[in-house]
Amino acid sequence: MGEHQQRPCTSQQPLLEIENLHIVAEEQGRRYAAVRGVSLQVHRGEVLCLLGETSSGKSAIAQAILRMFPSRERIVQGTIRFHRKKGDGDSDIIDLAKLSERSRELHEIRGQEIALLIRESPASLSPTHSIADQILEVLRLPRRTDKRVARQRVIDLLAQVGVSEPERYLDARPANLSPSLRQRVLMAIAIAAHPDLLVADEPTRGMDVILEAQVLALLEKLQQELGMAMLLTTDDPSVAAALADRVAVMYLGRIVEIAAKKELLMDPMHPYTRGLLQVAMELGREVAPHTPLLTGTTPAASSAIPGCAFHPRCPSYTARKCDAATPSLIEASHGHWVACYLYGSEQEAVA
Ligand code: SF4
Repeated sequence: MGEHQQRPCTSQQPLLEIENLHIVAEEQGRRYAAVRGVSLQVHRGEVLCLLGETSSGKSAIAQAILRMFPSRERIVQGTIRFHRKKGDGDSDIIDLAKLSERSRELHEIRGQEIALLIRESPASLSPTHSIADQILEVLRLPRRTDKRVARQRVIDLLAQVGVSEPERYLDARPANLSPSLRQRVLMAIAIAAHPDLLVADEPTRGMDVILEAQVLALLEKLQQELGMAMLLTTDDPSVAAALADRVAVMYLGRIVEIAAKKELLMDPMHPYTRGLLQVAMELGREVAPHTPLLTGTTPAASSAIPGCAFHPRCPSYTARKCDAATPSLIEASHGHWVACYLYGSEQEAVA
């Protein structure tokens, strides 16, 4: 595993630093690299969006942070350094990639310092426990807390995520709630302990436009109220446009471009980013794209494509260069990093 993407750095205070992360997944008995040497930082209070299609590896990164892989992925190389606040205002750095999945530290961090927000589904909440009990589990109140005080904390949280008449739902089971209410309960659970980092893995995927707009507005409000950082994954540029401070575009396990949101959306550099934004813009107008910038199909996550992984679909492809070695990320302009041979005089290749 010699591949390593150069790290885009900024001067802000880091909360999470991912360095040279490699994740291996397995499909039908075959192992493949799902994440290939990704390095990035999330700063305190910022929203970083990982934007890419299904095979990009963005969800594997989100799941790696809390070690909540749904199937047989595993971290084979790299570090995920989390800066934990200490009581004296200082911080401790812990490498999440090195923790065992059942470790005490990971148990302390999950849901408390780093929370995961997932999209509402039949399996996202326990069907047998009441809404109040599921929120109280995350609140971890002292044993002797008065029952009325505990219920009031739940009511306040439900009100914070926009549930009207929250008292009505305390003893309800998830099956008795609408999808919109269940999504709000998931948000209440995610923010209950005031985490420093919220990992939101495709939180609006598959939602109708009304629910999506409600969820995005609520996420923006909560992020600003609580000042928490957010790592958001999506395949939809409009979600990145709504919430992100910075956007990292991923393609087949690597970051191909990363920049401040406005810069990336107004002046995309990588041919893949340009194609993705063009298609999203055309779809937004509900007409077929006039210029099919994204030709070909999205490769399977297990594809092994030599050189720049985007070269079979790229309108700017140069034979014997783009298919020979993987371009590394370079800082093309201040804070704007891109991995493409079109930029930089002597573009460095990843060995
Ligand atoms: S490196 Fe070559 S193939 Fe890859 S995006 Fe740039 S121009 Fe296209």
